[in-house]
Amino acid sequence: MLEELNPFAIAQKQLDQAAEIMGLDSATHELLRWPLRELHVTLPVRMDDGSTNVYHGYRVQYNDARGPAKGGIRYHPNETVDTVRALAAWMTWKTAVADLPLGGGKGGIICNPKEMSEGEKERLSRAYIRQVGRILGPDLDIPAPDVATNAQVMSWMLDEYEAIKGYHCPGVITGKPLPLGGSAGRGPATGIGTVVTIREALKRLDINASTTTAAIQGFGNVAQSAAIGYIDMLGGQVVCVSCWDHKDRASYTYTKKGGIDPHFLVTITDAYGTIDKEAAMDAGYEVLDGDAWIGLEADVLIPAAIENVVTGETVKRIHPKVKVLAEAANGPTTPEADEYLRGHDIYVIPDFLCNAGGVTVSYFEQVQNAYGYYWEEETVHERMDKKMTAAFHGVHETAQKHNVHNRMGAYIVAVARVAEACKLRGWV
Ligand code: GLU
Repeated sequence: MLEELNPFAIAQKQLDQAAEIMGLDSATHELLRWPLRELHVTLPVRMDDGSTNVYHGYRVQYNDARGPAKGGIRYHPNETVDTVRALAAWMTWKTAVADLPLGGGKGGIICNPKEMSEGEKERLSRAYIRQVGRILGPDLDIPAPDVATNAQVMSWMLDEYEAIKGYHCPGVITGKPLPLGGSAGRGPATGIGTVVTIREALKRLDINASTTTAAIQGFGNVAQSAAIGYIDMLGGQVVCVSCWDHKDRASYTYTKKGGIDPHFLVTITDAYGTIDKEAAMDAGYEVLDGDAWIGLEADVLIPAAIENVVTGETVKRIHPKVKVLAEAANGPTTPEADEYLRGHDIYVIPDFLCNAGGVTVSYFEQVQNAYGYYWEEETVHERMDKKMTAAFHGVHETAQKHNVHNRMGAYIVAVARVAEACKLRGWV
């Protein structure tokens, strides 16, 4: 991987900048540059045709000074230990910026789930827990869904963990379906949390949200709920969504005059966020190249898929009307693009602030699991909105105080909290 696109190198570089601005002592800085622990696992899985495939996976516990490690598990063909390390670092800053009593971790398996049957995915998920389960627990490390994993995958993992332990332990994993101890409102939480931060950013910029438009990249869980929330909560319009089409092995942007209808598009989208192209065209959607989303005229851009999509090259295609970049995905913007955005007065809501709604509701799920009493969806949304709003303004004000951009503001808030916990523990 090119060093400038290696997410872990990017994560370390971002931390280095924050450490310098904050005057962080060198021991704490060095401690926070690296994961505390990581487990690399090899997973033999019986395939439907009787053969055995051997997969490789990871679980990285980046820092748990503030509480148990927390973070999702991704199934991705291009997963590397460095992508998992970067995502685990960002989870550490994410739980800290949202002021949750949790640390950060992440897991990943190198695989292509789109080419696997349900049975093969179940056996892979169970094999992962047989290896990684030994370092998981509600007070140790708690996984959740991420790219290409969902509530069904969490159910298999929970079942395998409980079968090994011999007792119920719903708090070991979040993003579970409701009958297995999931929280109301966890599914759309990341997308809705994104919309909460956009709402607050538009207020700060003195822009009436209901007159705005957004261009969204992706149409998986996060993009779908962000699109629905943008229309239903803000009264704005969504000009496009995009998706990877695994049948065509190409990506497309879907746009429509007067705005797209995410409620309709969801009905013609498969479990991996691939929209049925023919059905969309029949319904009057225009199908553009997958990269087109970034150049469309809109007030707000929402990359809601994977890392490294706003690069030194694609950033130049951003429409001059764009005022806000809301990073619903983890690590969508490269440092080179970041500089360009600062030069062009685009208000960035940095990833680990923008998408913290998911882990915030994961934390609520754990709380509900701990006392075996479940909240109404409305209560979950209200509490999440409150936490996200407070986190947003904390970052905005810190950035203004230090005269830095929002990503640095978010790092300063998060790193100060994690550093304080490390110091109180006597680690540094
Ligand atoms: N995978 C989500 C994230 O990146 C959620 C993590 C969690 O709920 O633990 O924030």
